[in-house]
Amino acid sequence: MPNIIFIAPLAAGKGTISEYLSKHLGYEHISTGDLFREIIKSGTSLGEEIKEIIAQGSLVDDDKTFQVLKQKLETLNNNQLFILDGYPRNINQAKLLNKLELNNIVVIFLNLDYDVAKKRALGRIICPNCKKTYNIYFDNLKPKVDNICDECHSKLEKRIDDTEETFKKRFNIYLEETREVISYYKDMNLLKEVNANQDINDVIKDVLKIVNGDKYDKY
Ligand SMILES: [Zn+2]
Repeated sequence: MPNIIFIAPLAAGKGTISEYLSKHLGYEHISTGDLFREIIKSGTSLGEEIKEIIAQGSLVDDDKTFQVLKQKLETLNNNQLFILDGYPRNINQAKLLNKLELNNIVVIFLNLDYDVAKKRALGRIICPNCKKTYNIYFDNLKPKVDNICDECHSKLEKRIDDTEETFKKRFNIYLEETREVISYYKDMNLLKEVNANQDINDVIKDVLKIVNGDKYDKY
């Protein structure tokens, strides 16, 4: 099985897929957010620098992000498969990563239409009590009674930060940043595309086909 780099917009199901691959196939899930939290806890000088940057509300630059990632990859033993989640985010990061000469890599691009992404993100409502999530735009994800949790009958809430405008902005930034990364990996013949507009179970099946060849249906 190959190591995986995911390129995916918000609401493409990357979290669910990564969780599946970790649980069933033993992948180590590496996200830059988690790495930053880990290195800050470690108290090393790089950790201190990153703590400062994040405290100021700034973004950690590509070189420091790369150093943190490189350190993490060096701790993995040779047989440990991994998923890179949220990295590389731009072409500069992709080129830095290429210096590590990692082999056995596949880049999976979860291609999601804007309209589907928007419905998934903006239609999401959550039960404040039991944390079950619903979506008002999808029949199979709607609560049985409008605005009431099926499980515990609490009143459901919309996530406040999800307005159409902020969503559109984030989606467009993603498109802009990843366009070059996608063509970079396409040129290297490493890119596989999956239709992420499908039901999440079908997306997982398609990812497993890539990862496992035709042995996928045994999972
Ligand atoms: Zn509930």
